[in-house]
Amino acid sequence: MIDASGTWGTPNVLGASGLPARGESTVAAFLEHALPDVLGAARDRFAGRHTLVVGAGHSAANTLLSLAELAESTPGTEVTWAIRTASPARTYGGGDADALPARGALGSRLRAHVDAGRIRLLTGFSVHALTPTDGRVSVAVRHADGSEESATVDRIVAATGFRPDHSIAAELRLDLDPIMGAARALAPLIDPNEHSCGTVPPHGVDELAHPEVGYYAVGMKAYGRAPTFLMATGYEQVRSVVAALAGDWDAARDVQLDLPETGVCNSNPDDSATGDSCCGPAPTAEPAARGLATGISGGLLSTPLNLVTLDTAPSGGQAGGCCS
Ligand SMILES: Cc1cc2nc3c(=O)[nH]c(=O)nc-3n(C[C@H](O)[C@H](O)[C@H](O)COP(=O)(O)OP(=O)(O)OC[C@H]3O[C@@H](n4cnc5c(N)ncnc54)[C@H](O)[C@@H]3O)c2cc1C
Repeated sequence: MIDASGTWGTPNVLGASGLPARGESTVAAFLEHALPDVLGAARDRFAGRHTLVVGAGHSAANTLLSLAELAESTPGTEVTWAIRTASPARTYGGGDADALPARGALGSRLRAHVDAGRIRLLTGFSVHALTPTDGRVSVAVRHADGSEESATVDRIVAATGFRPDHSIAAELRLDLDPIMGAARALAPLIDPNEHSCGTVPPHGVDELAHPEVGYYAVGMKAYGRAPTFLMATGYEQVRSVVAALAGDWDAARDVQLDLPETGVCNSNPDDSATGDSCCGPAPTAEPAARGLATGISGGLLSTPLNLVTLDTAPSGGQAGGCCS
């Protein structure tokens, strides 16, 4: 079974912790998922209105650029962009250093709009609560120091990423990384705290295998919650898996991947703690807010398991185990 069903159907919530923000279910009428057709079918929902775009990925960047274009032709259209980190450096990307020029240009165009004030940028923005207010929606933010503030807008675009839905394989023996929702062997290779889409090492059937023989999730879903998937990676995954299923293990294990450099060091650089340049000298302070798009902090490999130490058995008493 090759599961290539993607993650598009299960977007992340707006709540910065990865759980729905307070009141999120009550404001569905104001919410848009990633990539609404701002300049086309959905134009009327945004024209002459104030939209808040939440998220720091390319989906957010594309929506912001469309909204800025709409604002040029439609008076009263306002655009605010909210990110959890302290700097938009990751979204601005590598500019001219990006091996994919169109991707680099996205970030550069976005930066120009922000610098010119056509897009208002809110950093350190962690959505905490959402409340319908006189035909608009109020968004309350809780800062790291516990203080709160709120903004009131007409619409919210939640460009907060996606997560896999493994329920289709719920009866199968999957070995998933508990943070990433990707195959356990693959997870450290794609950890977004360590890798950008351009630095993921080649991988194939061995890293995608599960205890359930013959089941493979490939493509976007293979990456679980990591936002760094590229189609080139998926093509090589599929080639490797299919070669293995055909019995050609030499070909299956000869994985090759030549990914385009992003021009940034990784997908979640120390932009939380430093300024714009993610590729400069190592910061002296520990980054304050590393983590997945869904709010789990810390690199996959940097969080040791907490081990519980059991008391030794009291003298003459039972050890506490049922089988001792
Ligand atoms: C906004 C955005 C932009 C991206 N841009 C790029 C880019 O420029 N370059 C790049 O390399 N990558 C890009 N990616 C990443 C990735 O390459 C794409 O998301 C790609 O479409 C993933 O391919 P996929 O086949 O794994 O999943 P999908 O393209 O999502 O395909 C999954 C398919 O499975 C179907 N499906 C779902 N559930 C079921 C079910 N139960 N039964 C049957 N069918 C089902 C879906 O309807 C869909 O047709 C982008 C991702 C996003 C979100």
